[in-house]
Amino acid sequence: MPRTRIRLLTATAVAAATLCAVGAANATGSAPRSDREIPNLTDVVNEIKAYYGDTVDASGEHYASASSNYAKQVAGIEAKAGAYLREAVRHTRPGRKPAIVLDVDDTSLLTYNYELEVGFVYSPASNDAYIQNKNMAAVFGMPAVANWAADHGVTVFWITGRPETQRAATVRNLGAVGYTSSADPSHLYLNTKEPTAYLPCSAPTYTCTTTDYKSGTRKHIESLGYDIAADFGDQYSDLNGGYAGRTFKLPNPMYYLP
Ligand SMILES: [Mg+2]
Repeated sequence: MPRTRIRLLTATAVAAATLCAVGAANATGSAPRSDREIPNLTDVVNEIKAYYGDTVDASGEHYASASSNYAKQVAGIEAKAGAYLREAVRHTRPGRKPAIVLDVDDTSLLTYNYELEVGFVYSPASNDAYIQNKNMAAVFGMPAVANWAADHGVTVFWITGRPETQRAATVRNLGAVGYTSSADPSHLYLNTKEPTAYLPCSAPTYTCTTTDYKSGTRKHIESLGYDIAADFGDQYSDLNGGYAGRTFKLPNPMYYLP
């Protein structure tokens, strides 16, 4: 996920501020007038860890738990997506090929272990080192959603903000945690930030927003004869811009990406 991230400090503070009336002004971007309008960062981190059901193994690695409230919330979304997809595959337009699109980080693969490792302080360098050398766990239940789709004639595509230099590691990680459909170059789109014929914002100077890049890539996929029944993402920038029958937003209280 190589990009400018509005980090935990800002993102969760804003998100948490919207929960209390006194802090609501913060969501508009105005500076807090008192520390009482700011959620305490230690408390926010502890809430995030509780939500993910933080567990620590013998080597000190932190993982999310399959019995966590995060996992339960994800399972509820997946149940809705599954019911929708079972119907959608029966109603694909004649001559079109059904497809789904998944984001990678915190949609297909869970960054929680990485986030804990770096104390929620993302950097491109630490993120790249992690991706190249370790495998992230799957987002609970998402391999089953993707594999069900693949087993029922639905082509699975990934569109990620990860750079081209992380292609091999991403393919390795997706396969290692149980995604069975092909993540070959025609099914896994990474953000090259190079001039791309189907992305008008990519040339002569690359000015694509995440939404431009992702929706423009979905448009391209549909131009190849696919109907994207569902688009899964943990950020609204994964989901906005059309070219999907339905969107499914997965939870992510750890960071916000415009
Ligand atoms: Mg993501």
